[in-house]
Amino acid sequence: MASIPILSFEEARARVIHEVSHGIPMPRTEMVALDDAAGRILAQPVRADRDYPALNRSVRDGFAARSADLPGELWIVGESRAGGRFEDRVGPGQAVEIMTGAPIPEGADCVAMIEHVRVHQTKVSIPAAPPGQFISFRGEEAVQGQLLIPTGRMIDYTGIALLAATGHAEIEVYRQPTVAILPTGDELVPVSQTPKEHQVRNSNAHSLAAQVARAGGRPAMHSPAKDDEAATRESIERALADSDLLLMSGGVSAGKYDIVETVLAQLGAEFFFVRAAIQPGQPVVFGRVAGKFFFGLPGNPNSTMVTFEIFARAAIEMLGGQAEPKLPFALGRLTEPFRHKPTLTRFLPALLSGLGDLTPLGWKGSGDVPAMTRANAFLVASSSQAEWQAGETMPVLLK
Ligand code: AMP
Ligand code: MG
Repeated sequence: MASIPILSFEEARARVIHEVSHGIPMPRTEMVALDDAAGRILAQPVRADRDYPALNRSVRDGFAARSADLPGELWIVGESRAGGRFEDRVGPGQAVEIMTGAPIPEGADCVAMIEHVRVHQTKVSIPAAPPGQFISFRGEEAVQGQLLIPTGRMIDYTGIALLAATGHAEIEVYRQPTVAILPTGDELVPVSQTPKEHQVRNSNAHSLAAQVARAGGRPAMHSPAKDDEAATRESIERALADSDLLLMSGGVSAGKYDIVETVLAQLGAEFFFVRAAIQPGQPVVFGRVAGKFFFGLPGNPNSTMVTFEIFARAAIEMLGGQAEPKLPFALGRLTEPFRHKPTLTRFLPALLSGLGDLTPLGWKGSGDVPAMTRANAFLVASSSQAEWQAGETMPVLLK
Protein backbone atom coordinates (compact mmCIF):
# COMPACT_ATOMS: atom_id res chain seq x y z
CA MET A 1 0.00 0.00 0.00
CA ALA A 2 2.84 2.36 0.85
CA SER A 3 4.01 2.18 -2.77
CA ILE A 4 0.79 3.69 -4.15
CA PRO A 5 1.56 7.29 -5.20
CA ILE A 6 -0.50 10.26 -4.01
CA LEU A 7 -2.74 11.26 -6.88
CA SER A 8 -3.73 14.81 -7.73
CA PHE A 9 -7.43 15.64 -7.61
CA GLU A 10 -7.70 15.32 -11.38
CA GLU A 11 -5.82 12.01 -11.48
CA ALA A 12 -7.88 10.56 -8.64
CA ARG A 13 -11.16 11.53 -10.24
CA ALA A 14 -10.04 10.16 -13.59
CA ARG A 15 -9.09 6.91 -11.85
CA VAL A 16 -12.55 6.58 -10.30
CA ILE A 17 -14.22 7.15 -13.65
CA HIS A 18 -11.86 4.79 -15.46
CA GLU A 19 -12.19 1.93 -12.99
CA VAL A 20 -15.94 2.16 -12.60
CA SER A 21 -16.63 2.53 -16.31
CA HIS A 22 -14.54 -0.58 -17.06
CA GLY A 23 -15.47 -2.61 -14.02
CA ILE A 24 -19.23 -2.81 -13.80
CA PRO A 25 -21.94 -4.83 -15.48
CA MET A 26 -24.76 -2.67 -16.90
CA PRO A 27 -27.40 -2.23 -14.24
CA ARG A 28 -30.78 -3.90 -14.67
CA THR A 29 -33.72 -1.86 -15.88
CA GLU A 30 -37.32 -1.23 -14.88
CA MET A 31 -40.34 0.61 -16.28
CA VAL A 32 -41.55 3.77 -14.53
CA ALA A 33 -44.49 6.08 -15.17
CA LEU A 34 -43.65 9.37 -16.92
CA ASP A 35 -44.31 11.42 -13.80
CA ASP A 36 -41.92 9.25 -11.76
CA ALA A 37 -39.13 9.48 -14.34
CA ALA A 38 -37.53 12.83 -13.40
CA GLY A 39 -34.03 12.25 -12.04
CA ARG A 40 -33.88 8.67 -13.35
CA ILE A 41 -31.43 7.44 -16.00
CA LEU A 42 -32.73 6.47 -19.43
CA ALA A 43 -32.20 2.81 -20.29
CA GLN A 44 -33.66 3.15 -23.79
CA PRO A 45 -33.01 5.73 -26.48
CA VAL A 46 -35.82 8.20 -27.12
CA ARG A 47 -36.67 8.65 -30.80
CA ALA A 48 -39.06 10.94 -32.64
CA ASP A 49 -42.34 9.07 -33.23
CA ARG A 50 -43.19 11.45 -36.10
CA ASP A 51 -41.74 14.56 -37.70
CA TYR A 52 -41.38 17.58 -35.38
CA PRO A 53 -43.20 19.72 -36.19
CA ALA A 54 -45.58 17.34 -37.93
CA LEU A 55 -46.54 19.98 -40.52
CA ASN A 56 -45.44 23.45 -41.62
CA ARG A 57 -46.76 25.83 -38.98
CA SER A 58 -46.75 29.48 -38.12
CA VAL A 59 -44.52 30.84 -35.39
CA ARG A 60 -46.39 34.18 -35.23
CA ASP A 61 -49.93 35.50 -35.04
CA GLY A 62 -50.66 37.35 -38.31
CA PHE A 63 -51.44 36.55 -41.94
CA ALA A 64 -50.28 33.75 -44.22
CA ALA A 65 -49.80 34.82 -47.84
CA ARG A 66 -47.81 34.23 -51.04
CA SER A 67 -44.53 36.15 -50.90
CA ALA A 68 -44.84 36.83 -54.68
CA ASP A 69 -47.92 38.98 -53.90
CA LEU A 70 -46.04 41.19 -51.41
CA PRO A 71 -46.03 44.04 -50.76
CA GLY A 72 -49.71 44.22 -51.51
CA GLU A 73 -53.31 44.55 -50.45
CA LEU A 74 -54.88 41.09 -50.26
CA TRP A 75 -58.36 39.62 -49.73
CA ILE A 76 -58.83 37.89 -46.35
CA VAL A 77 -60.31 34.53 -47.32
CA GLY A 78 -60.36 32.66 -44.01
CA GLU A 79 -58.45 31.71 -40.88
CA SER A 80 -56.12 28.97 -39.66
CA ARG A 81 -56.00 28.40 -35.90
CA ALA A 82 -54.06 26.02 -33.63
CA GLY A 83 -55.99 22.78 -33.46
CA GLY A 84 -57.80 23.54 -36.75
CA ARG A 85 -56.77 24.23 -40.33
CA PHE A 86 -57.81 26.27 -43.40
CA GLU A 87 -58.95 23.64 -45.88
CA ASP A 88 -58.74 25.68 -49.11
CA ARG A 89 -55.74 26.80 -51.12
CA VAL A 90 -54.45 30.39 -50.83
CA GLY A 91 -54.64 31.81 -54.33
CA PRO A 92 -53.10 34.92 -55.93
CA GLY A 93 -54.16 38.11 -54.12
CA GLN A 94 -55.40 36.19 -51.07
CA ALA A 95 -54.34 35.98 -47.40
CA VAL A 96 -55.45 33.85 -44.44
CA GLU A 97 -55.48 35.04 -40.86
CA ILE A 98 -53.25 32.70 -38.88
CA MET A 99 -52.40 32.04 -35.23
CA THR A 100 -49.15 30.83 -33.67
CA GLY A 101 -48.87 27.04 -34.02
CA ALA A 102 -51.55 26.82 -36.74
CA PRO A 103 -50.90 24.97 -40.03
CA ILE A 104 -49.68 27.06 -42.98
CA PRO A 105 -52.43 26.75 -45.59
CA GLU A 106 -51.55 25.30 -48.98
CA GLY A 107 -50.41 27.94 -51.44
CA ALA A 108 -49.07 30.32 -48.75
CA ASP A 109 -45.29 30.47 -48.27
CA CYS A 110 -44.80 33.16 -45.60
CA VAL A 111 -46.36 34.77 -42.55
CA ALA A 112 -46.55 38.48 -41.71
CA MET A 113 -46.81 39.48 -38.06
CA ILE A 114 -50.11 41.02 -37.00
CA GLU A 115 -48.13 44.04 -35.72
CA HIS A 116 -46.79 44.72 -39.26
CA VAL A 117 -50.03 44.63 -41.27
CA ARG A 118 -53.06 46.93 -41.67
CA VAL A 119 -56.51 45.36 -41.77
CA HIS A 120 -59.38 47.29 -43.39
CA GLN A 121 -62.61 45.30 -43.37
CA THR A 122 -62.11 42.38 -45.77
CA LYS A 123 -58.64 43.35 -46.94
CA VAL A 124 -55.16 43.40 -45.40
CA SER A 125 -52.03 45.37 -46.43
CA ILE A 126 -48.90 43.32 -45.95
CA PRO A 127 -45.31 44.54 -46.43
CA ALA A 128 -42.74 42.61 -48.48
CA ALA A 129 -41.65 39.28 -46.95
CA PRO A 130 -39.26 36.55 -48.11
CA PRO A 131 -40.53 33.01 -48.66
CA GLY A 132 -40.40 31.00 -45.42
CA GLN A 133 -40.75 34.01 -43.11
CA PHE A 134 -42.11 32.95 -39.67
CA ILE A 135 -42.70 29.36 -40.78
CA SER A 136 -41.47 26.38 -38.81
CA PHE A 137 -41.11 23.66 -41.45
CA ARG A 138 -42.18 20.05 -41.05
CA GLY A 139 -39.33 17.97 -39.57
CA GLU A 140 -36.98 20.91 -38.95
CA GLU A 141 -36.64 20.08 -35.22
CA ALA A 142 -36.51 16.29 -35.74
CA VAL A 143 -37.53 13.80 -38.39
CA GLN A 144 -39.41 10.62 -37.59
CA GLY A 145 -37.09 8.01 -36.09
CA GLN A 146 -34.33 10.50 -35.20
CA LEU A 147 -32.49 9.91 -31.92
CA LEU A 148 -33.54 12.62 -29.47
CA ILE A 149 -32.02 11.46 -26.15
CA PRO A 150 -29.42 8.68 -25.91
CA THR A 151 -29.42 5.92 -23.31
CA GLY A 152 -27.56 6.84 -20.14
CA ARG A 153 -28.78 10.41 -19.80
CA MET A 154 -30.51 11.66 -16.69
CA ILE A 155 -34.09 12.67 -17.36
CA ASP A 156 -34.52 16.31 -16.36
CA TYR A 157 -37.62 18.44 -16.88
CA THR A 158 -36.72 19.12 -20.50
CA GLY A 159 -36.46 15.36 -21.00
CA ILE A 160 -39.89 14.96 -19.41
CA ALA A 161 -41.25 17.44 -21.97
CA LEU A 162 -39.75 15.41 -24.82
CA LEU A 163 -40.90 12.06 -23.39
CA ALA A 164 -44.41 13.44 -23.05
CA ALA A 165 -44.39 14.98 -26.54
CA THR A 166 -43.22 11.69 -28.08
CA GLY A 167 -45.92 9.64 -26.38
CA HIS A 168 -44.07 7.90 -23.54
CA ALA A 169 -46.57 7.32 -20.73
CA GLU A 170 -43.96 4.89 -19.35
CA ILE A 171 -40.23 4.73 -19.86
CA GLU A 172 -37.47 2.20 -19.27
CA VAL A 173 -34.87 3.40 -16.74
CA TYR A 174 -31.94 1.80 -14.92
CA ARG A 175 -32.44 0.40 -11.45
CA GLN A 176 -30.86 2.49 -8.72
CA PRO A 177 -27.73 1.02 -7.14
CA THR A 178 -27.84 0.11 -3.45
CA VAL A 179 -25.10 1.91 -1.57
CA ALA A 180 -24.06 0.58 1.83
CA ILE A 181 -23.14 3.30 4.33
CA LEU A 182 -20.83 2.05 7.05
CA PRO A 183 -19.44 4.58 9.54
CA THR A 184 -16.60 3.60 11.85
CA GLY A 185 -15.59 4.98 15.23
CA ASP A 186 -15.90 4.10 18.91
CA GLU A 187 -16.98 7.68 19.64
CA LEU A 188 -20.15 7.58 17.55
CA VAL A 189 -23.63 7.62 19.06
CA PRO A 190 -27.00 7.73 17.28
CA VAL A 191 -28.49 11.13 16.47
CA SER A 192 -31.29 10.64 19.01
CA GLN A 193 -28.81 10.10 21.84
CA THR A 194 -27.19 12.84 23.95
CA PRO A 195 -23.45 12.33 23.49
CA LYS A 196 -21.05 12.36 26.42
CA GLU A 197 -18.20 14.86 26.06
CA HIS A 198 -15.93 12.35 24.37
CA GLN A 199 -18.63 11.19 21.97
CA VAL A 200 -20.09 12.66 18.75
CA ARG A 201 -23.34 12.02 16.96
CA ASN A 202 -23.07 9.92 13.83
CA SER A 203 -23.83 12.75 11.42
CA ASN A 204 -21.88 11.30 8.48
CA ALA A 205 -24.30 8.43 8.01
CA HIS A 206 -27.09 10.91 7.44
CA SER A 207 -25.28 13.42 5.25
CA LEU A 208 -24.04 10.48 3.16
CA ALA A 209 -27.55 9.06 2.85
CA ALA A 210 -28.77 12.42 1.54
CA GLN A 211 -25.87 12.62 -0.92
CA VAL A 212 -26.38 9.02 -2.09
CA ALA A 213 -30.05 9.69 -2.76
CA ARG A 214 -29.19 12.85 -4.71
CA ALA A 215 -26.69 10.87 -6.79
CA GLY A 216 -29.44 8.42 -7.74
CA GLY A 217 -28.54 5.62 -5.31
CA ARG A 218 -30.51 3.87 -2.58
CA PRO A 219 -28.76 4.29 0.78
CA ALA A 220 -28.57 1.20 3.00
CA MET A 221 -27.63 2.27 6.54
CA HIS A 222 -25.39 0.06 8.67
CA SER A 223 -24.62 0.44 12.38
CA PRO A 224 -21.22 2.01 13.03
CA ALA A 225 -18.34 -0.43 13.25
CA LYS A 226 -16.15 -0.31 16.36
CA ASP A 227 -12.47 0.54 15.90
CA ASP A 228 -11.40 -3.08 16.20
CA GLU A 229 -10.32 -5.34 13.39
CA ALA A 230 -12.64 -8.26 13.94
CA ALA A 231 -15.71 -6.06 14.39
CA THR A 232 -14.83 -3.92 11.37
CA ARG A 233 -14.24 -7.00 9.21
CA GLU A 234 -17.59 -8.44 10.17
CA SER A 235 -19.36 -5.12 9.47
CA ILE A 236 -17.68 -4.78 6.06
CA GLU A 237 -18.67 -8.30 5.05
CA ARG A 238 -22.26 -7.68 6.09
CA ALA A 239 -22.40 -4.32 4.30
CA LEU A 240 -20.93 -5.79 1.10
CA ALA A 241 -23.42 -8.64 1.00
CA ASP A 242 -26.47 -6.71 -0.18
CA SER A 243 -25.03 -3.64 -1.90
CA ASP A 244 -23.54 -2.48 -5.20
CA LEU A 245 -21.04 -0.09 -3.58
CA LEU A 246 -19.59 0.34 -0.08
CA LEU A 247 -19.08 3.77 1.48
CA MET A 248 -17.20 3.85 4.75
CA SER A 249 -16.43 6.90 6.84
CA GLY A 250 -13.57 7.31 9.30
CA GLY A 251 -10.65 5.11 10.17
CA VAL A 252 -8.49 5.87 7.14
CA SER A 253 -6.05 8.42 8.63
CA ALA A 254 -2.68 7.60 10.16
CA GLY A 255 -3.89 7.15 13.75
CA LYS A 256 -3.36 4.01 15.81
CA TYR A 257 -7.06 3.04 15.50
CA ASP A 258 -7.40 3.86 11.79
CA ILE A 259 -7.70 0.23 10.79
CA VAL A 260 -10.01 0.34 7.80
CA GLU A 261 -7.26 -0.09 5.20
CA THR A 262 -5.69 -2.96 7.16
CA VAL A 263 -8.99 -4.82 7.37
CA LEU A 264 -9.78 -4.24 3.71
CA ALA A 265 -6.32 -5.55 2.80
CA GLN A 266 -6.98 -8.66 4.90
CA LEU A 267 -10.17 -9.15 2.88
CA GLY A 268 -8.12 -9.11 -0.31
CA ALA A 269 -8.94 -5.58 -1.45
CA GLU A 270 -7.31 -3.98 -4.46
CA PHE A 271 -6.46 -0.32 -3.80
CA PHE A 272 -6.56 2.25 -6.62
CA PHE A 273 -5.56 5.13 -4.37
CA VAL A 274 -5.15 5.63 -0.64
CA ARG A 275 -4.40 9.37 -0.60
CA ALA A 276 -5.18 12.33 -2.84
CA ALA A 277 -3.56 15.77 -2.86
CA ILE A 278 -6.72 17.53 -1.72
CA GLN A 279 -8.05 19.34 1.29
CA PRO A 280 -10.30 18.45 2.96
CA GLY A 281 -10.10 14.70 2.55
CA GLN A 282 -6.46 13.85 1.87
CA PRO A 283 -6.60 10.26 3.28
CA VAL A 284 -9.44 9.21 0.92
CA VAL A 285 -9.28 5.56 -0.19
CA PHE A 286 -10.76 3.97 -3.32
CA GLY A 287 -10.61 0.32 -4.24
CA ARG A 288 -12.42 -2.92 -4.95
CA VAL A 289 -13.11 -5.85 -2.68
CA ALA A 290 -15.17 -8.99 -3.32
CA GLY A 291 -16.04 -7.64 -6.77
CA LYS A 292 -17.43 -4.37 -5.44
CA PHE A 293 -16.04 -0.86 -5.39
CA PHE A 294 -15.57 0.85 -2.05
CA PHE A 295 -14.59 4.27 -0.76
CA GLY A 296 -12.96 4.86 2.60
CA LEU A 297 -13.93 8.47 3.21
CA PRO A 298 -12.07 10.35 5.96
CA GLY A 299 -14.31 10.80 9.03
CA ASN A 300 -14.17 14.55 9.56
CA PRO A 301 -17.62 15.59 8.35
CA ASN A 302 -16.41 18.16 5.80
CA SER A 303 -13.90 15.64 4.44
CA THR A 304 -16.63 13.03 4.15
CA MET A 305 -18.98 15.40 2.34
CA VAL A 306 -16.40 16.81 -0.07
CA THR A 307 -14.77 13.49 -0.99
CA PHE A 308 -18.22 12.07 -1.62
CA GLU A 309 -19.05 14.92 -4.02
CA ILE A 310 -15.81 14.82 -5.98
CA PHE A 311 -15.25 11.03 -6.10
CA ALA A 312 -18.03 8.77 -4.78
CA ARG A 313 -20.83 10.65 -6.50
CA ALA A 314 -19.34 9.88 -9.91
CA ALA A 315 -19.13 6.17 -9.06
CA ILE A 316 -22.76 6.02 -7.94
CA GLU A 317 -23.94 7.90 -11.01
CA MET A 318 -22.11 5.46 -13.27
CA LEU A 319 -23.33 2.40 -11.32
CA GLY A 320 -26.79 3.80 -11.96
CA GLY A 321 -26.21 3.76 -15.72
CA GLN A 322 -25.33 7.43 -16.18
CA ALA A 323 -22.99 7.84 -19.15
CA GLU A 324 -21.51 11.17 -18.03
CA PRO A 325 -20.94 11.68 -14.29
CA LYS A 326 -21.51 15.27 -13.23
CA LEU A 327 -19.19 17.74 -11.57
CA PRO A 328 -21.17 20.96 -11.41
CA PHE A 329 -18.50 23.62 -11.81
CA ALA A 330 -19.17 27.34 -12.26
CA LEU A 331 -16.93 30.41 -12.30
CA GLY A 332 -17.05 33.07 -9.58
CA ARG A 333 -15.48 36.53 -9.48
CA LEU A 334 -13.56 37.03 -6.25
CA THR A 335 -14.79 39.89 -4.05
CA GLU A 336 -11.48 39.83 -2.17
CA PRO A 337 -7.97 38.44 -2.71
CA PHE A 338 -7.47 34.76 -1.96
CA ARG A 339 -4.29 32.87 -1.18
CA HIS A 340 -3.45 29.34 -0.14
CA LYS A 341 -0.47 27.04 0.07
CA PRO A 342 -0.32 25.19 -3.24
CA THR A 343 0.38 21.46 -3.83
CA LEU A 344 -3.09 20.55 -2.57
CA THR A 345 -6.32 21.28 -4.44
CA ARG A 346 -8.57 22.87 -1.84
CA PHE A 347 -12.36 22.83 -1.74
CA LEU A 348 -13.30 25.61 0.66
CA PRO A 349 -16.62 27.01 1.80
CA ALA A 350 -17.68 30.10 -0.15
CA LEU A 351 -20.70 32.16 -1.08
CA LEU A 352 -21.50 32.56 -4.77
CA SER A 353 -24.00 35.36 -5.38
CA GLY A 354 -26.66 35.26 -8.05
CA LEU A 355 -24.49 37.65 -10.08
CA GLY A 356 -21.40 35.46 -9.86
CA ASP A 357 -19.56 37.26 -7.04
CA LEU A 358 -17.51 34.82 -5.01
CA THR A 359 -16.71 35.40 -1.35
CA PRO A 360 -14.52 32.91 0.51
CA LEU A 361 -15.83 32.10 3.97
CA GLY A 362 -13.46 31.46 6.82
CA TRP A 363 -13.48 28.01 8.34
CA LYS A 364 -11.85 26.19 11.18
CA GLY A 365 -11.00 23.11 9.17
CA SER A 366 -12.43 19.74 8.22
CA GLY A 367 -14.63 19.42 11.29
CA ASP A 368 -16.28 22.84 10.92
CA VAL A 369 -19.73 21.83 9.70
CA PRO A 370 -21.40 25.19 10.51
CA ALA A 371 -19.03 26.93 8.05
CA MET A 372 -19.78 24.32 5.36
CA THR A 373 -23.48 24.81 5.95
CA ARG A 374 -23.26 28.62 5.64
CA ALA A 375 -21.62 28.17 2.23
CA ASN A 376 -23.55 27.57 -0.97
CA ALA A 377 -20.51 26.47 -2.97
CA PHE A 378 -16.91 25.31 -2.65
CA LEU A 379 -14.27 27.50 -4.21
CA VAL A 380 -11.70 25.30 -5.90
CA ALA A 381 -8.15 26.49 -5.28
CA SER A 382 -5.87 24.83 -7.81
CA SER A 383 -2.82 22.97 -6.53
CA SER A 384 -0.58 24.96 -8.90
CA GLN A 385 -1.51 28.55 -8.00
CA ALA A 386 -0.95 30.37 -4.71
CA GLU A 387 -2.72 33.72 -5.09
CA TRP A 388 -5.72 35.28 -6.76
CA GLN A 389 -6.56 39.01 -6.82
CA ALA A 390 -9.98 40.52 -6.13
CA GLY A 391 -11.90 40.55 -9.43
CA GLU A 392 -10.17 37.45 -10.78
CA THR A 393 -12.30 34.42 -11.56
CA MET A 394 -12.00 31.13 -9.73
CA PRO A 395 -13.71 27.80 -10.36
CA VAL A 396 -16.47 26.89 -7.95
CA LEU A 397 -18.03 23.51 -7.23
CA LEU A 398 -21.71 24.03 -6.64
CA LYS A 399 -23.18 22.34 -3.58
P1 AMP B 1 -11.34 9.54 11.69
O1 AMP B 1 -11.32 9.76 10.20
O2 AMP B 1 -11.92 8.24 12.07
O3 AMP B 1 -9.99 9.77 12.27
O4 AMP B 1 -12.29 10.66 12.26
C1 AMP B 1 -11.94 12.01 12.16
C2 AMP B 1 -12.92 12.89 12.89
O5 AMP B 1 -14.20 12.74 12.33
C3 AMP B 1 -13.08 12.56 14.36
O6 AMP B 1 -13.18 13.78 15.08
C4 AMP B 1 -14.38 11.82 14.40
O7 AMP B 1 -15.03 11.95 15.62
C5 AMP B 1 -15.19 12.44 13.30
N1 AMP B 1 -16.12 11.46 12.77
C6 AMP B 1 -15.79 10.22 12.35
N2 AMP B 1 -16.89 9.55 11.94
C7 AMP B 1 -17.93 10.41 12.10
C8 AMP B 1 -19.32 10.30 11.87
N3 AMP B 1 -19.86 9.17 11.39
N4 AMP B 1 -20.10 11.36 12.13
C9 AMP B 1 -19.56 12.51 12.61
N5 AMP B 1 -18.25 12.66 12.86
C10 AMP B 1 -17.43 11.63 12.63
MG1 MG C 1 -12.13 7.09 13.70
